[in-house]
Amino acid sequence: MGKHSKKVTCSMCNGTGKQTFNNDNRQEERPCPGCNGTGQV
Ligand SMILES: [Zn+2]
Repeated sequence: MGKHSKKVTCSMCNGTGKQTFNNDNRQEERPCPGCNGTGQV
């Protein structure tokens, strides 16, 4: 934390702040681990 002074769009979720996982044929949405659900890093 604090390493990036400039906020950029998270490349893991493309700025959405969430990621979808396939869980037993169900789609589950979770906060992106890369940006903690903010969509920016
Ligand atoms: Zn993200």
